[in-house]
Amino acid sequence: MSVTVRFAPSPTGNIHIGNVRTALFNWLFALKNGGQFILRFDDTDVERSKQEYADQIASDLDWLGVHPHRIEYQSKRTASHDAAAERLKQAGLLYPCYETAEELDRRRKIRLSRKLPPVYGREALKLTDEEKAAFEGEGRKPHWRFLLPNFEDSPFETRRTEVHWDDVVRGPQTVDLASMSDPVLIREDGSYLYTLPSVVDDIEMGVTHIIRGDDHVTNTGAQIALFRALGAEAPAFGHHNLLTTVTGEGLSKRSGALSIKALREDGYEPMAIVSLAVLIGTSEAVAAARSTEELAETFDPASSSKSAAKFDPAELDVLNRQIVHGLPFATVSDRLASAGVDISDPRAETFWNVVRANVEKVGDAASWWRILTEGPDSEAALEGEDIDYVRQAFDLLPAGEIDASTWGAWTSAAKEATGRKGRALFMPLRVALTGRRSGPEIADLLPLLGREGILARRP
Ligand code: GLU
Repeated sequence: MSVTVRFAPSPTGNIHIGNVRTALFNWLFALKNGGQFILRFDDTDVERSKQEYADQIASDLDWLGVHPHRIEYQSKRTASHDAAAERLKQAGLLYPCYETAEELDRRRKIRLSRKLPPVYGREALKLTDEEKAAFEGEGRKPHWRFLLPNFEDSPFETRRTEVHWDDVVRGPQTVDLASMSDPVLIREDGSYLYTLPSVVDDIEMGVTHIIRGDDHVTNTGAQIALFRALGAEAPAFGHHNLLTTVTGEGLSKRSGALSIKALREDGYEPMAIVSLAVLIGTSEAVAAARSTEELAETFDPASSSKSAAKFDPAELDVLNRQIVHGLPFATVSDRLASAGVDISDPRAETFWNVVRANVEKVGDAASWWRILTEGPDSEAALEGEDIDYVRQAFDLLPAGEIDASTWGAWTSAAKEATGRKGRALFMPLRVALTGRRSGPEIADLLPLLGREGILARRP
């Protein structure tokens, strides 16, 4: 069977690492199975959906290496949704209800006090045509509910009706349709809630696997019933665990700092985000992968655990560092250039190879470039006796070409002349040369500085 999956965000904000987990589970599943990946914008909420968010989501995904085969907008598919709603109405499976929120709440409380499950009692099904006409006459507009197939003869006598599916992530699942209310599919103002458009589009787009967060597990029971009511076979489902913050709160489109846009602007590597988004909360070790293709090879949706996984930005930093330390010059040269490194300088490539193990983000290399080409940083300064020591040491800089052996020869000469050793010998020179107490090997920096560059730093 050919596989078709979809990632269906609502374009009502910027996506975060938790949303990306869903996108990537689908993308890797498609890659692994040679399938198609649809990016479908669930934008039926016209008030809150914005094209700029849709554009940002598409660009975030592209940056992360997720390249949809198709892009669809639910808002352009209203005719299909209307046709499906009409079919359900004709079949008596979508019925008008006139209760207000207060009425529903009152009934719910009564049911609870009678120890009955707080589900909708289908009172609207008992309305006569006259009663409906009277409501309409008062200006009341109906909302529409889907009649769940959880009864034999009378809809008022529901019975346990199990829906089963073999979840791609969680294994065998069971939901009892008698434990839930008939879902509202259409609001009073005629707009659709998410359920019906989602099912209609999944059918018409030939979606074979719906992989999404486990906050949708109960929806799935009703959605399977809806697929069947529309004459379609339900696709396979997979529900992965959700990500929370370190303190256990759910990630939301409002937690701006964790949005992909913000992480990208902050200089994170896409594969650090991708690796963490996929591997966190699974039985696999979290390690930096080189590409989504590499991740797809070992990707197993079933390895994700059932409980929520905590997203810790410190883990992202670790992965980012690992990746940055292995990036070749050719891969980063554009970014180095925009951060201020003169990549036409013949030293640029060696410079990158020397500093990359000392930076967290690619852009951090720019400060080392300034140290190299403009002068020491102001983070650390020489004090007291160290000033005289450094002056003395500078006079001992070996003659001849400045190369990889210069540092060893230089410090030996300084040691002999001053009796200093260890930190007291090296650190003042590092501080004089770079204005920092830590950083790349000085032995590697010296050839980049050259004799003139070194001597210009004599205090
Ligand atoms: N728009 C829905 C959401 O973001 C999609 C859920 C689904 O994948 O079916 O929660």
